Amino acid sequence: MSRKNVAVIPGDGIGPEVIKATLEVLEKAAPGKFDFTEVAMGGNAIDKYGEPLPDFSLKTCQNADATLLGAVGGPKWDNQPPEKRPERGLLGVRSGLEVFANIRPAKIFAPLASACPLRKDIAEKGIDFIIVRELTGGIYFGKHEAFKTSDGERAARDVMEYSEHEIKRIAHVAFKMAMGRRKIVTSIDKANILTTSRLWREVVEEVAKEYPEVKLNHLYVDNASMQLVRAPSDFDVIVTENTFGDILSDEASQIVGSIGMIPSASLGENNRGLYEPIHGSAPDIAGQDKANPIGTILAGAMMLRYSFAMNKEADKIENAVDEVLRDGLRTPDIFMDGTKLITGSQMRDAIIAKL
Ligand code: NAD
Repeated sequence: MSRKNVAVIPGDGIGPEVIKATLEVLEKAAPGKFDFTEVAMGGNAIDKYGEPLPDFSLKTCQNADATLLGAVGGPKWDNQPPEKRPERGLLGVRSGLEVFANIRPAKIFAPLASACPLRKDIAEKGIDFIIVRELTGGIYFGKHEAFKTSDGERAARDVMEYSEHEIKRIAHVAFKMAMGRRKIVTSIDKANILTTSRLWREVVEEVAKEYPEVKLNHLYVDNASMQLVRAPSDFDVIVTENTFGDILSDEASQIVGSIGMIPSASLGENNRGLYEPIHGSAPDIAGQDKANPIGTILAGAMMLRYSFAMNKEADKIENAVDEVLRDGLRTPDIFMDGTKLITGSQMRDAIIAKL
């Protein structure tokens, strides 16, 4: 296999700490397989170049085989005008890479089961599902309008629109993912009310015919939010539109514990993805070696799996994380009585030692 070119955006706050740990883990899991190119984006890019995402930064990401991102933002840039805010760089990278599918796994590591806010008997059944969220369509990208009615009252509208190809391509992502897992897809919509949802359901059913081994269920979003806490073990792959996915993926992340543990991937038509932890730059703990690097390390494992088909190496990393947790090692965010408190860099070293 030729060496893979990875654009790396350390970002701000704890971003550089968790990225450093992840690059070392990747190098250990697959020695000599990567060329990493550091890219300026976020607050650090504003300080250095006057803008959150300089053109050359985006180009480096677009030319790379995949992009790995820490986190951006912080109080230093909070009072900047919108176009000079670090988050603008984030949206710019996502749209510049044309990533329309956001993949967020919700998996509870057995040693962390007691951190699950759900009843013990529910958590013990095992939680391991993936949310495939449509990321570039729907109401967030429709027409937004504030206006006055004919009698002068203030009013506003946001338009929700989906076309067939947008639904088709995200459905394929979900079904392909299910083929490598337990072969169950749950499509979530509000087809009893919304016309966009009725089209969604129709197109998902058409795509399903191409994956006869996969069982397809449909749920209304209100029911789905309830089932996620009632019986999370029933889910394997969830596919849903942008807004429903935004809300449900936050619900799911809380079910499986600390924000520092959860990775995400955003994928487009080709295999070039954007991989990042779900947390932000955590300015409150930056520079103190308290940041849990596991979310970013697992994002690195997702990159191996989805962009490079290096499943064996991805498994190795996920198993190493599981083992250090079994050994009782904990960064402050996941520390509990009876476990051993360690720093972020000690967590990195422990995972590398398992590899
Ligand atoms: P945050 O995720 O940075 O932090 C929330 C809380 O979780 C904090 O108490 C933090 O210490 C803790 N935390 C987060 N990651 C952790 C880790 N790996 N290990 C241990 N503890 C961790 O969210 P916030 O405080 O709302 O935002 C801080 C900054 O990050 C803001 O500027 C925000 O805009 C930005 N942000 C960036 C991204 C991104 O880059 N993708 C995402 C969310 C927020």
